[in-house]
Amino acid sequence: MISYNYRMSKYEAVIGLEVHAQLITQSKMYCSCDTNYQQAEPNTHVCPVCLGLPGTLPVVNKEAVRAVIMTGLALNSEIAKTTKFDRKNYPYPDLMKGYQISQFDEPICLGGYLEIGNEKIPRKIRVHRVHLEEDVAKLHHETSIGTQNTYSLVDVNRAGVPLMEMVSEPDMRSAEEARDYLTELHSILQYLGVSTAQMEDGAFRCDANVSIREKGSKELGPKVEVKNMNSFRAVQKAISFEIERQSALADTGERVIQETRGWDESKNITVSQRSKEKANDYRYFPEPDLPPLEINLEWVTRIKATLPELPRQKISRYSKEMGLSTYDASLLASNSKTADYFEKSLGFSKNPTPQTPKSIANWINTELAQYLNQGNVDILNQPVTPEIMSELVELIEQKIIGSAQAKQVLAEVYKTGKSASEIIDSLGLKQVSDTGELQVAVLQAISENPKAVEDFRSGKDSAQKFLVGQVMRLTQGKANPSVTATLVAEELSRYSNSKE
Ligand SMILES: [Zn+2]
Repeated sequence: MISYNYRMSKYEAVIGLEVHAQLITQSKMYCSCDTNYQQAEPNTHVCPVCLGLPGTLPVVNKEAVRAVIMTGLALNSEIAKTTKFDRKNYPYPDLMKGYQISQFDEPICLGGYLEIGNEKIPRKIRVHRVHLEEDVAKLHHETSIGTQNTYSLVDVNRAGVPLMEMVSEPDMRSAEEARDYLTELHSILQYLGVSTAQMEDGAFRCDANVSIREKGSKELGPKVEVKNMNSFRAVQKAISFEIERQSALADTGERVIQETRGWDESKNITVSQRSKEKANDYRYFPEPDLPPLEINLEWVTRIKATLPELPRQKISRYSKEMGLSTYDASLLASNSKTADYFEKSLGFSKNPTPQTPKSIANWINTELAQYLNQGNVDILNQPVTPEIMSELVELIEQKIIGSAQAKQVLAEVYKTGKSASEIIDSLGLKQVSDTGELQVAVLQAISENPKAVEDFRSGKDSAQKFLVGQVMRLTQGKANPSVTATLVAEELSRYSNSKE
């Protein structure tokens, strides 16, 4: 048997991704139907235009064009001065008109790139194009009870929802790189606010073109298009499988067939669906009902001015200006909501120190993240508000509570939604820093542990630590550790003096 590693040293994978994202707009791409269809009864968000009735005329949704331009600018693409729409013809029951209004040879955005990897090993994945089209209807496949006859129901609510297609160049060389590209693109769209990019709702969908070739070769092998991947994990697994499958075929001298394959999540394999149509099978031709669009440069400039700070810019700012590690900064910036939460928390800090951003980041990325992940909870919609988070970190910095107490407080806030100081009061968690109060505990610890004092006198420094621990025990963990350590040291120094 030939090992995977051997194969991967012989072959190289060539991967390109086609990503479709539904755009957030009030109305559909070519009619005024409401796009908010997810909870709606089937076939209630429809009109003659999106039902594809004869004699109707489409009108381009300007908001959708704006969203595509915005995406193109974020992907460093060139924005076309003129663009046009084309009919993509194919017969399928989910296509109401029998064709889809898409863009063929004059897309809105051409070229560009997206950066993946880290500062040490950055990678630019080139973008081929970004264009605008419309979503299709949804088919529900049913089986009649009793007869086992199968039939399909058509829900047209989704038909005509603006859909943006982003096509990469075949620049990715591994399943991990493909996943990185997809994650980065996903987070850019969320930052731009142009798409919910929810994979589970089908608002963000990815197809992968995978081929292999011998290392060093410039030729491209037969391309296999992989579909049906419903999560980032599935994308990575499906591409890995496909690279392995094609390499195994090449090793036995068999030809890889150019085809479309579907990812079978339950079996962890790709399955042949159909041999690939060529682009001209779609008989593209210019949409006669829509005139070409002129894109005004001034409009593009205005859109450019509204671009928000993007994930990679945030990571760089968090690490350069706030001293966060790239790892922490990436965790915060990977999702616009988490970044938003972090910046809001920082904004509430009344007396921020150079350490504050780091502390807040730690609490978000570890303790809070743990609670949110357990329940798959939205960070902007949970009891630990940015204000409470900043209060909590401030209380630790001011040594009013220790980090063990802070964890307890966070858990309690998450459960009850009360403020941190309220919980500290009600649970009596306040750290004791008052020397008078602590001195009593220190003296008690010393009188209860003559052996430790003996040990200290005979030169065992660990005895000092032991006594600090005893003070912690006597105060139920509320003693301020550094004040306690000073007091214990002072007290013990008397014994060492009296020794001489
Ligand atoms: Zn409509």
